[in-house]
Amino acid sequence: MLILKKLIAELEKPRDKRPLGSGWLSGAGALLAGLVGLLLVVVLRYPSWFNTPELAMLHENGLLNTVLHGVLILGYVFALISLVLNRSKVLGTTAMGLIVVVALFGSSQGEAGAVNNTSLYFGLDFFVLNVLFVGFLFIPLERFFPARAEQTVFRQEWREDMFYYFVSSMLVQVLTFLTMAPTNYVTNTVNLENVQTYVGSLPFFVQVILIMIATDFLQYWLHRLLHTVPFLWRFHAVHHSAEKMDWLAGARMHFMEIAVLRGVTAIPMFSLGFDPAAIQVYVLVVYFMSSFVHANIGWNLKPIEPFMVTPRFHHWHHGLEQEAIDVNFAIHFPFYDRIFGTYHMPNDQQGPNGKGGRWPKAYGVASGPVPKGYWKQFWFPFSKPQPKDMSKELPK
Ligand SMILES: [Zn+2]
Ligand SMILES: [Zn+2]
Repeated sequence: MLILKKLIAELEKPRDKRPLGSGWLSGAGALLAGLVGLLLVVVLRYPSWFNTPELAMLHENGLLNTVLHGVLILGYVFALISLVLNRSKVLGTTAMGLIVVVALFGSSQGEAGAVNNTSLYFGLDFFVLNVLFVGFLFIPLERFFPARAEQTVFRQEWREDMFYYFVSSMLVQVLTFLTMAPTNYVTNTVNLENVQTYVGSLPFFVQVILIMIATDFLQYWLHRLLHTVPFLWRFHAVHHSAEKMDWLAGARMHFMEIAVLRGVTAIPMFSLGFDPAAIQVYVLVVYFMSSFVHANIGWNLKPIEPFMVTPRFHHWHHGLEQEAIDVNFAIHFPFYDRIFGTYHMPNDQQGPNGKGGRWPKAYGVASGPVPKGYWKQFWFPFSKPQPKDMSKELPK
């Protein structure tokens, strides 16, 4: 009830105590959207309670669903704004909580035949599935085959990284929309019909491998650019600020970086005429791989190290020591690093259990003033650069 009291006090704040830009208006708007959404969900789930002919019509053409969807998206954005602006988080968190509950409630099955196409509200179900599936897969592997045995699941900053995981899953639709823009530009300006016919005729698995090769080439250079250009590095430094590596650590990535990365890799994926099923398989591979290469798994993978990016390979990319600076940029295929001279896999010592090559000593950003927490890291690249992080000697 304390929260309710705080909430009411916040809502009743006199006008001069809540000027524009204080996050009060957006918070109140988000709360309103959450309440409207709640009512709409009740109407949608229990149409028999509201069986007036006018409403039946709304049910039939799916208008209510669209309205509900719009209201919840709006409320979600408002709640985010309020959380950024308002020092007292009670409005933003309450509204966000309400919206999440409404979205969950709305996406589960209501009365038979009432709600059909309400799945994937903001990817909340996507997030839950993702965490459950990937977590269940990797937590036991990290427990039984650790690269660093002392590290537990609830290691330092695990909540921050879980929040990253949450936000990027929740915004899956927004991201998909954003990332299609460059692809649309390419397909509208270049005629790729012949290439598309050829690519579409290739065997399925060849297509998957080709997508990986094409996207990894772009990824390699984008990644290298992120390390070289000081302004871009400030975005990417967020990813490197993780000091503990595990399946969750890969989720820590600045929103802008995710958007640009997806936009760039979407170009070959969607413009070269690949089978949509091959693209789907590739997306699954990427989700799996990004957890895998960050995971605290100390397997000896020497036999496949030359062909595939492994945890040890990407851990070196995150390494804190001098020898780990600006190496191992590839996400799928280490041969890109061999070709472009950035390959680093020292074998002068043995890894965990006395097998498989040396691992880095520690992770993070050596010169880095990267702050802690999602929102501080979100604003970090836009803040005034410190002389330190503009220096040429930027460790990765
Ligand atoms: Zn990097
Ligand atoms: Zn990484």
